[in-house]
Amino acid sequence: MEVNGVGTEPLVQLLPAIRHFHPGICHFCSQAPSESCMLKWCAQCQLVPYCSKQCQRKDWAMHKRFCQVHAVEGRRNVFSQAKIKVHDKKSWLEYRKFLQLTARINLDRRLEVFENEILLFPRVCEVCKEAEPSKIIDCPNCHSVFYCSDSHCSQDAERHEKWCYKYLLCIQCDIWEARKGIPDLPFPSKVDKEYKKLPAKMIDHLKTQLCLKNVDDRDLDLKLYAVMSERLSYPLSLLYALQQLEVGPYKQAVSELSELKIHVVGAESTKELLGIIRWEYLVHRLPALMKLHMVFVGPELFSDSGLSDELPDNRCLDDSGMTQCEDCQEKGRVIVYEMCQLLYHEYKNTNYFTSPDAIIAYNCGFHEFEGEKRDAWPESLSLMVQNSDIPLIFTSYTSTEAKKDMAVLRKFNDTEVVIPIHMNPYCSVRPIRDFTREDACDMFFINQYISCIIGKK
Ligand SMILES: [Zn+2]
Ligand SMILES: [Zn+2]
Ligand SMILES: [Zn+2]
Ligand SMILES: [Zn+2]
Ligand SMILES: [Zn+2]
Repeated sequence: MEVNGVGTEPLVQLLPAIRHFHPGICHFCSQAPSESCMLKWCAQCQLVPYCSKQCQRKDWAMHKRFCQVHAVEGRRNVFSQAKIKVHDKKSWLEYRKFLQLTARINLDRRLEVFENEILLFPRVCEVCKEAEPSKIIDCPNCHSVFYCSDSHCSQDAERHEKWCYKYLLCIQCDIWEARKGIPDLPFPSKVDKEYKKLPAKMIDHLKTQLCLKNVDDRDLDLKLYAVMSERLSYPLSLLYALQQLEVGPYKQAVSELSELKIHVVGAESTKELLGIIRWEYLVHRLPALMKLHMVFVGPELFSDSGLSDELPDNRCLDDSGMTQCEDCQEKGRVIVYEMCQLLYHEYKNTNYFTSPDAIIAYNCGFHEFEGEKRDAWPESLSLMVQNSDIPLIFTSYTSTEAKKDMAVLRKFNDTEVVIPIHMNPYCSVRPIRDFTREDACDMFFINQYISCIIGKK
């Protein structure tokens, strides 16, 4: 697999994708280095590579201010102290966080995602943090990890081998999305006639479904599978958890329900709402289901869309019931979408609150701001774990985070773990670089760990 396995695809910009930074490819055109093309690093900051003067010129307007505040001093770039100051994971994290903070102050604004990534994933030796540009060589395969010498390269070889391929896939997905915008993926539209329990692995479930005629053969590759798994991980993780529970007022198996109402808490427009058709994908797995009611609740639900000011009651309701496929329409199956830009305890106090069959929090981060003033979770969580009929399903990015999230919930009295923390077979397989490497992993995955808790009777 090559970095640029994407060909020249048309620049159809739907929703623009988030721009990312990868230290081993041209920051403007994503070209990987080759025998005929060596990347050159911006001389003024030594932080960003380009394949050509043209690419550097085209990016200059975007890069100029960031470059100025990171200008090299006496041939030393902002990472030149790292070799002396960094001695473990913690000090490396602090070193980069300090640079982020300084950049925010100097630029007097929030950093773009790619600007944060320039400071989080720099071109320094993986082993000793050497940053002298003339000494640094890339991993020839993924161009994402760097070494100051052959000996440091071989010292890290065994560890890196586990991740090398995932770095490549990570770059490919980012490039593919950047070129295509965020397209509505060709979701499998098959409708199950009878209920089938999900197989043990996502790939076994999607494999058969992906061979559909509306999917261009050329696109049927790993990056499509990875991006598709990222989107479908949301409905499939929910289904995976529901299969292990009894739900609804009569404690039924999910396959028997004719109506299902789910509260998705801490929801964001760029995550849970992206390509909303995938929620119909859940309906297609449950032949007995006639009505699905999805309620998305979160204080930042529309913050990226500019919609927030126009919403009366901070709420938006689509109860037309419209489904996208003929099969659902013929059967009279209905999907209701409700979106509330509120904290969950605020939502609970509205006159439009209705009780769900289950609550789910994706990549919840319950622990993230624990003990801080801005932490809004405790008040909401106490309401979510109150009821012995309503399971609270939650996913976390890493095993460490899952344990911390669970610990937050266990502080409420009278709760019971109904699904213990475990690796979610329906997590996304799209790799995302983890700058903390908290779990000694270079990458994390959306919905990687899943658990469920319920209030005791
Ligand atoms: Zn270029
Ligand atoms: Zn620069
Ligand atoms: Zn080194
Ligand atoms: Zn590599
Ligand atoms: Zn349908």
